[in-house]
Amino acid sequence: MGILGATGVVGQRFIQLLEEHPQFEVAALAASGRSQGKTYAEACTWRLPGEMPDRVKKIVVESPAPPLDCDFVFSSLPGEIAGEAEESFARAGFPVITNSSPHRMDTDVPLLIPEVNPAHLELINAQRATRGYERGYLVTNPNCSTIVIAMALAPLHQSFGVESCIATTLQAISGAGYPGVAALDITDNVLESETVKILGRVDGATIKGAPIKVSAQCNRVNVIDGHLAAIRVKLTETASLDQVRAALASFTSLPQELNLHSAPEKPIIVRDEGDRPQPRLDRDAGFGMSITVGRIAPDKVLDYRLVALGHNTIRGAAGAAILNAELLLARASL
Ligand code: NAP
Repeated sequence: MGILGATGVVGQRFIQLLEEHPQFEVAALAASGRSQGKTYAEACTWRLPGEMPDRVKKIVVESPAPPLDCDFVFSSLPGEIAGEAEESFARAGFPVITNSSPHRMDTDVPLLIPEVNPAHLELINAQRATRGYERGYLVTNPNCSTIVIAMALAPLHQSFGVESCIATTLQAISGAGYPGVAALDITDNVLESETVKILGRVDGATIKGAPIKVSAQCNRVNVIDGHLAAIRVKLTETASLDQVRAALASFTSLPQELNLHSAPEKPIIVRDEGDRPQPRLDRDAGFGMSITVGRIAPDKVLDYRLVALGHNTIRGAAGAAILNAELLLARASL
């Protein structure tokens, strides 16, 4: 497999998480003109704990343009160039599993969380038909904060229906790549539209969004990794606090049934201590793939409030895309 944007914050996570992966092997790496023609060891300033894996050090970094010597690509290119580059790979016959934003809201592209909306993969056939792709296709994963919010809402929506939701994020600085962005240079509307799409249903060749009103505000905080979201929800059906807690704590889904390599045993871990979740203590839960939910309490304005936390470069980026690929492989679509 190939990685587009391999030298970046998310690209490095891909390489780290794929080092001992039983199904996927890194075969090609691509990045900007600054890195092309250099070995990965020369091009990349490794910023993760632990050493750069030996097997990627000598791979020569290429341009993010097809063909690359691989079966499919993961993409973590910057939004400005990802859209066109990813389409050219899909057109050239490569499945593209991306965590970049340009195609997330395309009506024929799955915005996939394997635990929440695996049925959305049905869109791939329609996408191929309308775009004239043969072997290639595009599958996206959500924005790193949306994934935390959508995972926390999914069990509540399945069990009781969610009518509306207000979410305020406290996002880690690593979510903006290296060297990062100004604290105010972030958007909140993606959280609203992506959440509605993820919790929606397949309707022919597109997704009918869930009838949930979502209001979100984002904030960047002085944390290295781990996005927090303070969420308030109004439910369609009445539910007790115990029922809400139980729906979250017992949530399990297709990746767990299929025993996918990166699937956490518990997609949602509920903590009852008043001071959890905390980024430093909880971001690595389930090897960074579990969402930790705590401070579940009745809310005087809406029905319930809770705080959810997820690792932004693992569950919110590279780990999410790898789990997507594992599901696609299990369905014989890779
Ligand atoms: P980053 O650290 O800035 O890395 C960007 C990568 O893209 C580097 O490999 C860079 O290569 C390459 N690149 C930059 N300009 C390019 C160009 N013109 N042509 C080809 N390659 C180019 O960014 P990041 O945080 O990894 O984010 C990458 C993508 O993932 C973004 O779309 C972001 O929105 C998304 N994302 C990030 C997170 C997160 O938590 N960080 C979470 C979810 C999604 P050089 O090293 O050669 O410049």
